[in-house]
Amino acid sequence: MGVALVWLRDDLRLDDHPALRAALDRGLRPLPVYIHAPEEEGDWAPGAASRAWRRRALAALAEALQRRGSRLLLARGPTLATLQALAARTGAEAVLWTRRYEPAVEQRDAHIKRSLRQAGLHAESFNGALLFEPWELATRQGDPYRVFTPFWKSARAHWRTLSTWDAPARLPALDALDLPAGERLDDLLPAPSPAWDGGFWPHFTPGEDGARAAMQAFLDGAVHGYAQGRDFAAEAGTSRLSPHLHHGELSVRRVAAAVLAAGDAIAEPDRDRFLAELGWREFAHHVLHHYPRVPDHNLDPRFDDFPWAAADEPRLEAWRRGRTGVPIVDAGMRELWLTGWMHNRVRMVVASWLTKHLRQHWLHGARWFWDTLLDANLANNTQGWQWTAGTGADAAPYFRVFNPVSQARRFDPEGAYIARWVPELARLPLPARFAPWEHPELARRVAPGYPARPQVDLAAGRAAALAAFAALRGGR
Ligand code: FAD
Repeated sequence: MGVALVWLRDDLRLDDHPALRAALDRGLRPLPVYIHAPEEEGDWAPGAASRAWRRRALAALAEALQRRGSRLLLARGPTLATLQALAARTGAEAVLWTRRYEPAVEQRDAHIKRSLRQAGLHAESFNGALLFEPWELATRQGDPYRVFTPFWKSARAHWRTLSTWDAPARLPALDALDLPAGERLDDLLPAPSPAWDGGFWPHFTPGEDGARAAMQAFLDGAVHGYAQGRDFAAEAGTSRLSPHLHHGELSVRRVAAAVLAAGDAIAEPDRDRFLAELGWREFAHHVLHHYPRVPDHNLDPRFDDFPWAAADEPRLEAWRRGRTGVPIVDAGMRELWLTGWMHNRVRMVVASWLTKHLRQHWLHGARWFWDTLLDANLANNTQGWQWTAGTGADAAPYFRVFNPVSQARRFDPEGAYIARWVPELARLPLPARFAPWEHPELARRVAPGYPARPQVDLAAGRAAALAAFAALRGGR
């Protein structure tokens, strides 16, 4: 039986895995290999939280492979040379993998594919990460989409049956192969020391089993009422599948198929809203593929002249640490720091505060999220920041400045989210908890450790942001 290298990256699962399936369909023994080569990923190599996740996800995958009679080989880059050496040593005739869409990775992978083919190997990549390849959908003029609604309409019009493939119960053994010992996980991705990631794992369980359990919990619970519940920060009203989807422990096809298979058991608005959120993920990858400069540059070039304030390190640091003096912003930033995740509504609020009230360039925020989010994903993170900053595809207009106090009143009406993540405000009654500076005496007495004032006055910050925007428009 011949051998196929199944090169794993952001697809750390066995279920619904097209490359693994292709190896078996060709009658080849799959040799799963993970190659650690962050230096090949350009400026956006995985951040610290992603690495902490990946370490656990790889351990889970190695165990799952072992249970099925196979194994996971861990190696260190350079990737092409490592794949070539491994193919030569094992006599592999094919190298198969799931496609990724980050610009630096796309370029590298294209080079790897060409080189492997030139060397006489069967090199093939598959779509295992998206419902639609970024190049499958185009406007009537044949251009990429830059607006979500027509993009998603077109996706729904081209919808096809979501066929999924179950992980095999057993995999062909690899004992007869002369395999290198491989790297130790502890050397490739050492455990964080000190264990700053301790707060993550009560909320998330990396690996395919954890992903499946999270999906099931969502289908049994929060999907019912998702269309409304998804916006309430204190509630577990969303799926929290984003890190699992990013690391590919769950195929998006599997999730979408499960939601659709539930039929009438999930109310139509909840189902459609959830599918549309998966649609935003598709849209983000579409835009990233077609506009590969977006991780570092405004998609809307008019903003290249925007008068951002100079980088203000003390203010940025207060934002990162949840010490801005604006409770909902601080709650979000602390949730992120402590758990590696932040509620979507609050992501928009903290991003708006940074880019509009503080007028700091969105890249400052994108970089911090990149390092601290367990679901840090170049397509989604770039889109989230450029959307909120007003510089991106189908973005919120720059003049729409989120008011963090009204956002908190509306989406955290009991103040429970603020109390959970900013415990020094838990004893401050409503409505003071939303805006402690409006009740200075009470705040001083009950929450003496909390900043007395927001880092910028809300009305002044908003006015300055609008003035900057007006100057930009006037200058055009
Ligand atoms: P659910 O509401 O359950 O949605 C299901 C899935 O749909 C998510 O897991 C995610 O894969 C996808 N999804 C949902 N909302 C969006 C969205 N707005 N854009 C793209 N995909 C979406 N998401 C990331 O996965 N990685 C990021 O690095 C990231 N950075 C962001 C930065 C900012 C400033 C903002 C405003 C949003 C960002 N998002 C990012 C999008 C969104 O906040 C998260 O996907 C969502 O909060 C994840 O929680 P969930 O899995 O419970 O989502």
